[in-house]
Amino acid sequence: MREVLATLTDAGHEAVLVGGSVRDLLRGQPPGDWDVATSAAPEAVAGLFPGSTWLNRFGTVTVSPSRARPIEVTSYRSETGYRDRRRPDEVRFGVALERDLERRDFTVNAMAWRPADLETGDGELIDPHGGRADLAAGILRAVGDPASRFEEDALRVLRAVRFATGLGLQLEPATADAMRAAAPTTTEVSGERVRDELLRILGDPVALPSRALRLMLDAGVLAAVLPELAALAGVPQGKPLSGDALDHSLRTVDALPAGDPVLRLAGLLHDLGKAVTLADGHFIGHEEAGAEMAAAVLDRLRLPHADVARITHLVREHMFAYAPDWTDAAVRRFVRRVGPDALDDLFALRAADNLASGVAEPARGGIDELRTRIAEVAAAAPLATHQLAIDGFDLQAALGLPPSPEIGRLLGELLEATIEDPALNEREALLDLARRLAAPVD
Ligand code: ATP
Ligand code: MG
Repeated sequence: MREVLATLTDAGHEAVLVGGSVRDLLRGQPPGDWDVATSAAPEAVAGLFPGSTWLNRFGTVTVSPSRARPIEVTSYRSETGYRDRRRPDEVRFGVALERDLERRDFTVNAMAWRPADLETGDGELIDPHGGRADLAAGILRAVGDPASRFEEDALRVLRAVRFATGLGLQLEPATADAMRAAAPTTTEVSGERVRDELLRILGDPVALPSRALRLMLDAGVLAAVLPELAALAGVPQGKPLSGDALDHSLRTVDALPAGDPVLRLAGLLHDLGKAVTLADGHFIGHEEAGAEMAAAVLDRLRLPHADVARITHLVREHMFAYAPDWTDAAVRRFVRRVGPDALDDLFALRAADNLASGVAEPARGGIDELRTRIAEVAAAAPLATHQLAIDGFDLQAALGLPPSPEIGRLLGELLEATIEDPALNEREALLDLARRLAAPVD
């Protein structure tokens, strides 16, 4: 960071720390990232840092200093317009730092620190909007007119939720009113931007996500960005428990680890199906309906396909009910269906679901017993095709088949057979079975 500031100032430009890094330093917290702003134009910044990348017209250049994490260097700019409520119509560079601070969202994010001496760390705080006082008083306040700020960019509604709960700040009343008024317009924010904010809310290492999600509910933001979840408000829990299905979902999220926001998202969405299966009084099939609803939500939020698959799979499987009378083959079938790699996720979700329902896992017939039994059966029999005594090449050679989907199908069938009868997992027995299972060549 010093290196980046020094390179810019040595070249005759003004360079300051801005945004979250100044805010976090004033709070006595290590900044999550360093945001640098400069009077230099983006072209000049890119020229000073070989290997830097310049992605968009907003003048942010990502530079990668030696031995350090990438730093975003943003050229001072002012913004006007926002006719589409998403991005400014016009961005102007070459403005003074004070103009650049005016375009920022909240007073606590609109401070800059100008270094006087990088060696000693002497410098000057530039704080035209009173961010330092607001931070000290525990207040989150929009810069300038709150209504216009949320109208310009509705994502700020979600950012307000994240900063208020993450930093433990109270919303200043006019900011809170404007936020509520703008909540319905968050439907216009792109799925990607909502996703990134939501995952940051869910990944907060300290603040419980339920606080942020409640704030979203109260302000009308949840109904706009996650209507399927908001619909769980008032849906009674299936069991004789207090609260509704939304309370339960929020408690489940809180009980999952912050280090895995995608798993927390699975916890948030795991009971979505309860809103549509309520009619039967028992939520029959809510995991199947819920998995489909979760897929629709996650596609809308542009989650990567792997995360969508991970979450929908957990939603679909979360109702599994282990009983001590399961045969070893039943345990193997369970592992096969869930997939060995998804077991930890599924057990973590079950533990959180239990905690959120006030249900204790029984010592006999509980998850711990199932884990032990899985370890036992895994040691004794294959649970995945790569653990079979033969592989696809053996099948091709023995059956005279070309590489084709048929080979994969056969391996799957052989695995199913060995799951029922582990004694089959032996070369000749498997080849024999494969010959019988192979589609007749015509
Ligand atoms: P974090 O600690 O989470 O990185 P941050 O405040 O640094 O928080 P960034 O998203 O890194 O947040 O943005 C850096 C700065 O850019 C913010 O502090 C704020 O001044 C400004 N900013 C970012 N997004 C917006 C926005 N949508 N509207 C207005 N200003 C914004
Ligand atoms: Mg930042």
